[in-house]
Amino acid sequence: MTPRTPIFNHDLADDIDRVLVDRHALDIRVSELAGEIARCYHKQELTIVGVLTGSLVFLADLIRRLPLRVKLSVISISSYPGRATTSRGPSITGLPPESLAGKHVLIVDDILDSGKTLLALKTQLAAHHPASLRTCVILRKQIPDFTPCTQADFAGFDVPNEFVVGYGLDYDNLYRNLPDICVLKPHCYDRQMGKT
Ligand code: 5GP
Ligand code: MG
Repeated sequence: MTPRTPIFNHDLADDIDRVLVDRHALDIRVSELAGEIARCYHKQELTIVGVLTGSLVFLADLIRRLPLRVKLSVISISSYPGRATTSRGPSITGLPPESLAGKHVLIVDDILDSGKTLLALKTQLAAHHPASLRTCVILRKQIPDFTPCTQADFAGFDVPNEFVVGYGLDYDNLYRNLPDICVLKPHCYDRQMGKT
């Protein structure tokens, strides 16, 4: 008899401390967000700019639930170009081939933390003179006594101020394929630091 394929293997399951947002909650909330976005852009064409790589899973789920005419582009953002070891400020690579001028543009990213990434993206894309420019994230970090430098127009869940992985979000480019949003056990970070 062929064994059933597990959703993820034991190596990954052993690394998870706890699940913060499970796949069912994500499923429901992504549909709700799609509804909110569809109402906002009623009958208008929407140009989505997804931010690689963290938004990939969310982006794929979201766009398939949007009953709109959607054009899709993806961009990357990096604060450490090449071999730089100090931040040069976020810079965008892979700007959409099509002009954003006069378009309704929605930036889709994974998580709003300090807000610096979304603010940099908004500033740089605004220079292309879109008709409108909004932002959407699946997660928003709640940091006590801290206000991010920009807000997201659409947000899925508020999460506590902890480092999260899964549903596209990574640690050292791992764990993106976890179907839930999770917090890792401390030994995962120790391992990367060469402690275990
Ligand atoms: P911000 O510029 O808002 O401080 O940070 C946003 C970016 O930092 C996100 O796009 C994401 O790439 C990364 N980031 C912030 N918090 C987390 C987190 O808890 N987990 C992961 N995997 N990435 C995070
Ligand atoms: Mg990111």
